[in-house]
Amino acid sequence: MTTPLIVGNWKMNTSLDTALALATATAAASDAAGGSVDVGICPPYPWIVPVANAVRGASLRVGAQDCAATTDGAHTGDVSATMIAGHCTFTLIGHSERRHQHHESDDIIHAKLGLALDAGLSVILCVGETKEERDAGREHDVVNAQLRTALAGIDPDMAGRLTIAYEPVWSIGTGNAATDDDAAIMAREIRATLSELLPDTSATIRILYGGSANANNTVAFLAADGIDGLLVGGASLSAETFAAMIESAASQR
Ligand code: PEP
Repeated sequence: MTTPLIVGNWKMNTSLDTALALATATAAASDAAGGSVDVGICPPYPWIVPVANAVRGASLRVGAQDCAATTDGAHTGDVSATMIAGHCTFTLIGHSERRHQHHESDDIIHAKLGLALDAGLSVILCVGETKEERDAGREHDVVNAQLRTALAGIDPDMAGRLTIAYEPVWSIGTGNAATDDDAAIMAREIRATLSELLPDTSATIRILYGGSANANNTVAFLAADGIDGLLVGGASLSAETFAAMIESAASQR
């Protein structure tokens, strides 16, 4: 049975003080799960180093929310994968807020993914369709195209460091989570594409669901066929709620 992975994406939230308190409480919840659940957090860039220092020695993994599409140079405001790799074990790539607010194309996401893996990071690649795309019955085509472009030419030896997060755009931050059936159906599609693209490693790649996951729907999502964990935004900002989600995941094992 795959160990579930639960990751909190803090987005552009927290002060240094609240970040340290949240990270410390989440590290305690991760340790209490005793290895039955893998837990990660993605603080904003400036808090990564103090947070990583505060939770050193705990089982909690610290990740970034994004990385640059180039290695270095004149890219004001960007942070490279190698800079991140000194302090984090993983990064998100292709979050829908990056795709839509920063106009990141699948090609840019492909470049970021390659650089992150080259830098030694694990990657959570986020994919998902908009409401209009789902209403038009195009959700599988959209997610498939996102996967195929992002993963084109990926070194199969590095694919062991890959996780896919299915995050329907219409469910993120809306309180309108997908059903566990929707998540399972998409997980099956994603798994089929992965088997084709990475026949030797696809079975080890975890598929997460993300989009208004909370303490009340954690058990249902984790019980859904093919869902190996959760990417959590809003609910990861409450130490109590996120700990309850980690505990629910642990109690299912
Ligand atoms: C996210 O931003 O990745 C996310 C899933 O957000 P929320 O849980 O708030 O919908």
